[in-house]
Amino acid sequence: MAQYKIATIGSHSALQILKGAKDEGFETICVCLKGREKPYESFKVADKIIIVDDYQGFFDVQDQLIKEKAIIIPHASFIAYLGPEKVEGFKVPYFGNKKILDWESDRNMERKWLGAAGLKMPMIFKNPEDIDRPVITKFHGAHGGAGYFVAKDLKDWKQKMKAYKGEQDYVIQEYIMGVPCYIHYFYSSLTGEIELLGFDKRYESNVDSLGRISARDQIALPKIDPSYVIVGNIPIVVRESLLPEIFKMGENVVKESQKICPPGLFGPFCLETIITPNQEIITFEISARIVAGTNPYIDGSPYTALRYKEPMSTGRRIAREIKLAIKQDKLNKVLG
Ligand code: ATP
Repeated sequence: MAQYKIATIGSHSALQILKGAKDEGFETICVCLKGREKPYESFKVADKIIIVDDYQGFFDVQDQLIKEKAIIIPHASFIAYLGPEKVEGFKVPYFGNKKILDWESDRNMERKWLGAAGLKMPMIFKNPEDIDRPVITKFHGAHGGAGYFVAKDLKDWKQKMKAYKGEQDYVIQEYIMGVPCYIHYFYSSLTGEIELLGFDKRYESNVDSLGRISARDQIALPKIDPSYVIVGNIPIVVRESLLPEIFKMGENVVKESQKICPPGLFGPFCLETIITPNQEIITFEISARIVAGTNPYIDGSPYTALRYKEPMSTGRRIAREIKLAIKQDKLNKVLG
């Protein structure tokens, strides 16, 4: 075990991943874009920091990482920096199932997967003329929901769409009234068990600030459109009666993934949901890896406190899984 190292790219949830790896006894490597290394030095989570000048640099250090016996832990920035189509060819041992990326990054495939798992999802309006309720329009590649807009009906949608002339790559979803809730799961391919690690909601600019301005002032400032640019994450504990369904949802998503994309989804993943006043849990997206919403729980969440005797973050849970796999000589079960 001692010879393996845990590596990731310095962004997103790297502090948590590297700290968790150290807590489990691994040496750690952080690959950083030049100018972004300060937090990883200051918080002392990386035994080695490799600085690269640009995104291409991540590919250039592959041989060095392989030589160091590094296992790379992917997060959203890792996928975004490399480009999802290039992850498959990344040669360094990788925690997770790379093939799941195809299912997650294609909206239609993702919907097929979650639908087959029995999850409730927002309606999609393929033809705008069918809009009969409030909708949210999401543009592909609108990073962090910057270009999303909400429309109350078809007339409003047509009016707002004028600002996006020529745009073709978007989806019109039913706007779900309720509270956002991001569910953090971990599925162990070694034990066959799903674990619930925590929940968060996002702190988004400017939508989370609209309530700070009275409706009267909002109307007086007609230029305010909500945007969903993520700035941070806020912990949540959900009412306990929701938990049985939440476990079931995670289990079904994993089971279905094993059919569509063997060996299926394992490690951390997140269902991004809105919970309505009727307590319906509507899922609008899945992230098939660690999400930044787990960052408030570097010292463990209320849920990991129930299950583990020591502080257990998602990052540490990943490292523990790798440690277990090494001990049981099953590393191939956790590398994709
Ligand atoms: P990600 O970073 O997870 O890939 P994103 O930030 O680009 O995604 P989403 O997570 O899809 O965007 O959504 C951004 C915001 O819009 C979230 O706050 C979410 O709660 C809200 N939202 C998304 N879909 C719906 C919906 N169908 N109804 C109501 N609100 C929604």
